[in-house]
Amino acid sequence: MFLEKLSMKDVNKLYNKALAGEFLSVREGKELYTRTPSSQLFYLADQIRFKKNPLRRVSWQIDLNVNYTNVCISGCLFCNFHCRPSQRQSAYTLTKEQLQEKINLVREAGGDQLLLQGGLHPNYDIEFYENMLRTIREISPGIKLNALGPPEIAHISRISGITMTETIKRLIDAGLDSLPGAGAEILSDRVRKIISPSKPDAHSWEKVMREAHKLGIGTTSTMVYGHLETLEERLDHLVLLRSIQADKPAEAPGFRAFIGWPMQLKKTRLLEKYPLSPPSMLENLKMVAISRIMLINVPHIQVSWLTIGPRTAQLALHCGADDMGSVMIEENVVSSAGSHFRMVPDEMERCIREAGFDPWQRNQDYTPVLK
Ligand code: SF4
Repeated sequence: MFLEKLSMKDVNKLYNKALAGEFLSVREGKELYTRTPSSQLFYLADQIRFKKNPLRRVSWQIDLNVNYTNVCISGCLFCNFHCRPSQRQSAYTLTKEQLQEKINLVREAGGDQLLLQGGLHPNYDIEFYENMLRTIREISPGIKLNALGPPEIAHISRISGITMTETIKRLIDAGLDSLPGAGAEILSDRVRKIISPSKPDAHSWEKVMREAHKLGIGTTSTMVYGHLETLEERLDHLVLLRSIQADKPAEAPGFRAFIGWPMQLKKTRLLEKYPLSPPSMLENLKMVAISRIMLINVPHIQVSWLTIGPRTAQLALHCGADDMGSVMIEENVVSSAGSHFRMVPDEMERCIREAGFDPWQRNQDYTPVLK
């Protein structure tokens, strides 16, 4: 559908509102996304980026994505990584020795953080997770643990018969440092019922994040787009994240960053059922820009170079993003659905410099890595 461009007066009104740090509504976000030239959208997002993060520098980090188990009862249609508990030949859970190997790997690469994510295992309760975190801490006391997305927390809470608050508290006691924003996909139950019907719903995701923020745990927020969702649902998702962030206790870190990426569909059951095409490069850049504009109260916008590729990621740094995320030494979920981009630390720094920025290596909490 062709939509007329907005008048300059209307564009200016929206720009001034966004630049003043005001919250744009879903309707206003949609107007900007669909009725202003992409160049103007990118320019606005870039201006907001520099207002929030004035230095001409881009952060990145080293961590290792450890998928501690692939056993999962969720059965998301877009996931080629998981397997059912009955698939004994391919099911795994990492042993202590394998965890030790992962820690060695990230340490050798100069990192000090693990991103721990796995499936929704039907038999593992809170004690399994406490033991896993404590085991890692024993092996490497200084390692940072960015672990367990909201669907895992909701699942552990349900399977253990304890509240989400108690679940998070016990995990913090066992060594949890921060929560990744994984498993949000699109926070619309209409879509979730189709693409991941057995996964905890949108409200559970929201509830976990609100509880984590109340307990002072820093988190990130995510969105996976480019499947069955509408543009309004993407914008509703951003507005929901913004309201969670607005409600966090003033002293809590809340969402430190937002990361959006296009769903990787290769060989997935979702693609078998629905004739989906991946978003264009322009759409990916527009999503970075609109995220920066809508999420005015989230400090950083991270670009998912792993899914859109380093070249498009360089452009995204001029469309509102100020963080390149991790070199992700090992990753299984998106790579098993078609993403095969890789970078080592030197390439990451070169990539950022080529795009016109100074690279700085950060920790999960956006403090600089001291070398
Ligand atoms: S995406 Fe996560 S929750 Fe969904 S099936 Fe895969 S491992 Fe399970």
